[in-house]
Amino acid sequence: MPSQMRDVIIIGGGPAGLATAYLCHKHSLSYLVLESGKAAFQGIANTYPQGKLVYASKPKDAPEPFLVDELRPPDKPVTVESYLQYVQHFVQHENLNICTEVAFENIQDERDYLTVLTDKGRFKGRKVVLAFGSSIPRELSVYGDAKMVAKNVDDPTKYVGVKTLVIGGGNTAADVVIAILKTKRECNDTQPVYWAHKSEKFDVNKETAQRLGEEILLGGNIRLLPGAQPRIGEVDDEGVDRLVIRINEFKQSDGIDLYHALSFPMQNVIACIGSQGPVPIFDKIGVQTISCTAGVCKVAKEGDRLVLLSAEFESTRKGVYVVGGAISPSYMKISSGAIQEEKHPNLIYTAINDAYHVVEAIRSKLGRQ
Ligand SMILES: Cc1cc2nc3c(=O)[nH]c(=O)nc-3n(C[C@H](O)[C@H](O)[C@H](O)COP(=O)(O)OP(=O)(O)OC[C@H]3O[C@@H](n4cnc5c(N)ncnc54)[C@H](O)[C@@H]3O)c2cc1C
Repeated sequence: MPSQMRDVIIIGGGPAGLATAYLCHKHSLSYLVLESGKAAFQGIANTYPQGKLVYASKPKDAPEPFLVDELRPPDKPVTVESYLQYVQHFVQHENLNICTEVAFENIQDERDYLTVLTDKGRFKGRKVVLAFGSSIPRELSVYGDAKMVAKNVDDPTKYVGVKTLVIGGGNTAADVVIAILKTKRECNDTQPVYWAHKSEKFDVNKETAQRLGEEILLGGNIRLLPGAQPRIGEVDDEGVDRLVIRINEFKQSDGIDLYHALSFPMQNVIACIGSQGPVPIFDKIGVQTISCTAGVCKVAKEGDRLVLLSAEFESTRKGVYVVGGAISPSYMKISSGAIQEEKHPNLIYTAINDAYHVVEAIRSKLGRQ
């Protein structure tokens, strides 16, 4: 991957990241978007239900119009599918620089720039804009490395002919199990899908349970593994990355415990173990947050940790800005020497307008106005 210096490295290709990219492009700042999904707006593609209408919502008390009209959803709501299609055309038409399937990991300070560390290498930028949204997929925590484990399924046919492991106990995991069972059944593949969950009880809604039941009755080959714990990520003698999952454990009187475990090639494993807010990432990269104490915050609850940002969305790490859903529903704003909670509704409008203000601030700091 190229490691040339850019003015701005943007993490996340949602409304906030793409608006930042477009404005950089318009103002001749060099930039690169790093998006962990397969395409721009992957966050929206993953979280909106099929056919959902996208609204150009704007908070009543917001003084500004949409500041990047090109990404504004139409006034007459359209389905998420048409909005996504429009965005893909926009990206192509403007020839925006996006690297997909690159997951952000950390930021390193250099003498006069920042290095962004990802699962696909390092990228250099004078400024970094974090636009990774509010919902970050959880990583499997095992001894060793489990980075090769997928977090969702784009193409269930990839799992035809192999024993597949799906980890997670909720509706998302169940949907993945159903999709793979269906594909395997349609291809007359008899290899099973193992469905593992750390607790003894799976937790799916009635409608999902009905669809799963139907798939099993139609011949779906499923093996349930309740109480199973992913333990180790390792490379075997043949160089294959494998995930070892403990499926039961017997405590013996002589003090020697007996375990049963299964080992799957990681490329046959999908972990749907939910998402988390961005605070653990802020901690990891050393961006400061503040806990709300009683009576201080109106939007956040007591004990919630809010990221600390300047009026221009710069964090306590110099040159690192945070925008969009990642700072919703509120953040701590440093302004005129005071720190105060600032409401920040999680909307496409807010994400886009944050981008506008950040690019203006970066242009001014880099002397490119
Ligand atoms: C079901 C639903 C319906 C909604 N409907 C509306 C609506 O009608 N109108 C409206 O205005 N708002 C709506 N919203 C809110 C709106 O979608 C968000 O405010 C908006 O998407 C936030 O944009 P963002 O760019 O900050 O984050 P996101 O859209 O979440 O984009 C973040 C991007 O970063 C990527 N990413 C995450 N982690 C990494 C990483 N480590 N490395 C690289 N990339 C990463 C993600 O894949 C994603 O593409 C809705 C939200 C939901 C969940």
